[in-house]
Amino acid sequence: MPPTVQTRPRDVRGYPVPAITPWEGDEPQFALTDYGRSADCALKRLCSVCNTVMPQGPVWRVLGAAESAAIGEALAAGRPYRNLAPTLEGPGHRACMLYASMVCPYLARPNARRGMSAAEPDDMTAHVVRGTVRGAMGAVVGFGEYEYAVTGTQVLFRFLDVVEFLPHDTADAHLDELRAELDRRAGRPAG
Ligand SMILES: [Zn+2]
Repeated sequence: MPPTVQTRPRDVRGYPVPAITPWEGDEPQFALTDYGRSADCALKRLCSVCNTVMPQGPVWRVLGAAESAAIGEALAAGRPYRNLAPTLEGPGHRACMLYASMVCPYLARPNARRGMSAAEPDDMTAHVVRGTVRGAMGAVVGFGEYEYAVTGTQVLFRFLDVVEFLPHDTADAHLDELRAELDRRAGRPAG
């Protein structure tokens, strides 16, 4: 777990609760995105998972199967990928998104559960472990640039310039990558 995620508040199962998740009493509402918290992330360049500042340079997201497939196809064809559709999902650190992609995709993609019937948290975990929620493929994707707009009711993000594409089809696909990233950030030699 990235050190900045370790200090996040936990839900009753012990899962760290991302910065942009609203709370209702003691219950984090993972399926929702908090307007004020998202606005803070946008305006202060904070990671949507751990709520600490993202350095200048690329930012990362966890993408679902459809958008990952579109990026994979564009890269394979040597075309630039361009999706100008805005999203409510904010960016984060590379380590935070690698972590979120393995532990709980909906940590990084709060809207991923929208439209699903009220899934029991334990069912949710089991599905995630089997990879069925994400489908055969999702990806952790780095973007060179992003834009945001804070409207009266929503915080919208738009991501440009894919600089890294790390597709996954199993729950632990990015474990080695995450370990290497945490070592790198802590200044430890790889290995
Ligand atoms: Zn972070």
